[in-house]
Amino acid sequence: MSDYSSQLIEQRRILHQWPEEGWTEFWTTAYIVEKLRSFGYEVLLGTKIINPEQVFGRNVELVEEGKKNALARGVSEELIAEMEGYTGAVGLLDTGKEGPTTAFRFDIDCVCVQETANADHKPNKEGFRSQHNGFMHACGHDTHTSIGLTLAKWIADHKDELKGKFKIVFQPAEEGVRGASAIAGSGILDDANYLFGSHISFMADSGEIVVAPYGLLCTSKFDVKFTGKPAHAGKEPNAGRNALAAACNAVVQMMGIPRHGGGMTRINVGTLRAGEGRNVIPTHAHMALEVRGETSSINDYMTEQVMNIVEGISKGFDVTYEVSQMGAAVDFTNDKECSDIIENVAKTVPSVNKIIPDGNFGGSEDYSVLGRRVQANGGKAAFFICGADRAAGHHQGTFDIDENALQTAFDMYKGIVEKVNK
Ligand SMILES: [Zn+2]
Repeated sequence: MSDYSSQLIEQRRILHQWPEEGWTEFWTTAYIVEKLRSFGYEVLLGTKIINPEQVFGRNVELVEEGKKNALARGVSEELIAEMEGYTGAVGLLDTGKEGPTTAFRFDIDCVCVQETANADHKPNKEGFRSQHNGFMHACGHDTHTSIGLTLAKWIADHKDELKGKFKIVFQPAEEGVRGASAIAGSGILDDANYLFGSHISFMADSGEIVVAPYGLLCTSKFDVKFTGKPAHAGKEPNAGRNALAAACNAVVQMMGIPRHGGGMTRINVGTLRAGEGRNVIPTHAHMALEVRGETSSINDYMTEQVMNIVEGISKGFDVTYEVSQMGAAVDFTNDKECSDIIENVAKTVPSVNKIIPDGNFGGSEDYSVLGRRVQANGGKAAFFICGADRAAGHHQGTFDIDENALQTAFDMYKGIVEKVNK
């Protein structure tokens, strides 16, 4: 009999030491692939699970660096080649018995955060801190990956007692909601009868399960580039076209987009970089921004307003512009059938002491893109929160979670498999 509890912690601590940001998770993917193959899974990689046309926010230079890092850490050239430049993996297991196709989604990327050097921080105290400077599993996706792998092992070990098929999705680039669209666009989940996903911790403590979090906001992320024309700032500024001034005006106008009466909206211009030198009319401006909305149509409204402003400003300042979409998530509501399954399973898990029917997630999660895709094809989908006490909030260098919650999450997934595929 396998010791699933120690597998959960061991894998999490190994993954915690080499965190990789979205689309660069080559070492992490290799780790997942080797485990899945050793458990007897067929593993799909590269363009079998990624539609390159729906890949958002993938930086080619960082991808190459990620590959180099993975090779330096002992990953084989053959395995890197199999990935075709795209991270993430899907494990397939067929029990050979008639039954539903059940899919699970676990995200694998990290956050660009420096892990604290504080001696009291558990990864420091127990020797598993991040060795990848400037990167950290500060959102808990190391736990998600470990839970997914342990679930995969348990399913393989209990294959003879189960029916139907399993698809276990290890999704790259959740941060910035960049990865799910490409997975959805590959069609890999189109035959799934069920899709379950979860996030650890967030707004719930150890022992708590939030069955159907609401307020998964729709969001679109964009990079906008304005290009002007250089000129001597003293001699003939009239000959220049000022990209910096255009971008600044665009920001001010974007902040003035009227709120929508139909529901929540958000806008943030997170970065603005412009200009070449003190005495040169600025030629380049680059801004990274995002909009959010309570529903797809409100999010579309925000996007349309942003695009109108960019177009109008470029005309007014006689500069050109280029917009690239960098990420997307949609709104999402659990299917009642799946929420009922989650609730009933939670009642049987010994470490669960509080079942919370719903709660405001208050952020975006690109699970929503996958869940909606499954629903659009007639399947059922749900996303839940597995609570965990945390040392600090998500995305901070002092973030850490109560590792007991991994067992709770694993027990939840195991229970779901037993309900759906037994
Ligand atoms: Zn996260």
